[in-house]
Amino acid sequence: SKPQRLDQILFSQGFGTRRLCAGLIHHGEVKVGGEVVDDPWAEFDTAGLSFEIAGQVWPFFDKALILLNKPAGYECSQKPKHHPSVMSLLPAPLRERGVQPIGRLDEDTTGLLLLTDDGALIHKLTSPKHHVPKVYEARCKHPLTAAMVEQLLGGVELREPEDKLRPPGKFQRPPEMTKADGAEIVDETLLRLTLLEGKYHQVKRMVAAVGNRVEALHRPQFGALTLPADLKPGEWRWVNSPAEVWGQ
Ligand code: URA
Repeated sequence: SKPQRLDQILFSQGFGTRRLCAGLIHHGEVKVGGEVVDDPWAEFDTAGLSFEIAGQVWPFFDKALILLNKPAGYECSQKPKHHPSVMSLLPAPLRERGVQPIGRLDEDTTGLLLLTDDGALIHKLTSPKHHVPKVYEARCKHPLTAAMVEQLLGGVELREPEDKLRPPGKFQRPPEMTKADGAEIVDETLLRLTLLEGKYHQVKRMVAAVGNRVEALHRPQFGALTLPADLKPGEWRWVNSPAEVWGQ
């Protein structure tokens, strides 16, 4: 890749306006390769570059891809209504560069959430065409049965979610059909479900459609990525390449 000016590099990584970035550099706050660089116009090759600001090391990424262990009590929407946004768990430069969730997990759902500032990647990973498997573990209210698993694999009708119900007399949407790509009973009330799409409240509505109820929902896997065992709820890490999601 073509060498870039350090102030432009910091700007691209979400550290504020060009002027602010130049100021940071000029004041000796930025290290590259362990050495202070105080010339905002110093040029660096961005491939494999990392820099240090206030004791924190930042790898350069053209596009950011972040894996977050989402805790309960956070909303995925940009304008959260009742709880803080998952974005508040990320450092300011990631928010600043426009990172947003790839698909959504409900406020009470925990587990693997990907975020990126790559719009094309969001589109690819949320489109049902691309068949990216998402694995969920649903703790259910009632004991699971083989018949429930069979129905989930064969296809169920999703009722309209309660919070989206139209008033009587208005046009009602036809029921949506959907089926699980995988369904296993882990223990009496724990269901492991693999889905290729991401419809609104999909797991909860599917489980409701077979006469059970989700009491807690966790996502341990998105595509080929699994939640790292040492990543605590609320913690995040970089994903080096989208290829890791596809399993290449
Ligand atoms: N399905 C749900 O019902 N909720 C989620 O958060 C994700 C999938």
